[in-house]
Amino acid sequence: MAEDLLVPIPHSTLDRLNEAHWQLHQMEEHFHRADPFRWALNGFLRAIKEVPQLLLMEFQNHPGFPDWHRQMREQLANDPLLSYLFRTRDVIVHQKMLMPNSKGFFGITRGHGIKCGFGWKFDPMEDSDRLMNRMATLAREGGDMMGFFDPHDEDTMTCVERTWRLPEFPDDDLVDLSAKAWHRIAADVAQAIERVGGTRSEIKLSCPHGSEGVKLRRYDRAELAKYVYGPGSKAASGPYSPSSTIASAKMELPPVEKA
Ligand SMILES: [Zn+2]
Repeated sequence: MAEDLLVPIPHSTLDRLNEAHWQLHQMEEHFHRADPFRWALNGFLRAIKEVPQLLLMEFQNHPGFPDWHRQMREQLANDPLLSYLFRTRDVIVHQKMLMPNSKGFFGITRGHGIKCGFGWKFDPMEDSDRLMNRMATLAREGGDMMGFFDPHDEDTMTCVERTWRLPEFPDDDLVDLSAKAWHRIAADVAQAIERVGGTRSEIKLSCPHGSEGVKLRRYDRAELAKYVYGPGSKAASGPYSPSSTIASAKMELPPVEKA
């Protein structure tokens, strides 16, 4: 309809919102790789803060929009999560790198959640695979005290569970906070489009996001047992061949020294 053609679409704003969505995917994909995770988080924080600025640039000539936008900015400034994330973005851009807290567990799982393990404070610059590597090496050299690499345990998988959090929001993972922030900003964009005469329609993430699906990283028990117990163990000759093991993360193990 001709009327629809007159309704402006904030292309740059929506593009930046899509970019922030893409960074959310990067955060999940690299959840267990410390540097890429932090860099994706930085990218998300930069992109999401630019959305309101682009919105003003694209709609500033609509009567009354700058006033509406000012109120929107005030509301964002009073939103504890958004105001904190925006300030954090400024620190990243102008002052220093962001080091979130990373905690979790090392242990065994039946597939979902930790069945048995112990809490671990991760170095925010260390990959989960490196931690697993160190634990396997410790067990190889000092004994597998907890049985986390026991080749006879067919029911569980060795795993790492991890979280990334900010001290100011200790109950929520950064992936979940970021998805929440995205929806908050997207709601403002939707309102702005309606404000300049567009149709009100919800702008939502097209796919589910959250830490729940990525926080647990499972490892190939057979590969680990072979390394920890040695190539002559039952792990090497029994039913624990890598090809019969499911859902395992590939990791580099240090070369086994010959006796
Ligand atoms: Zn998505």
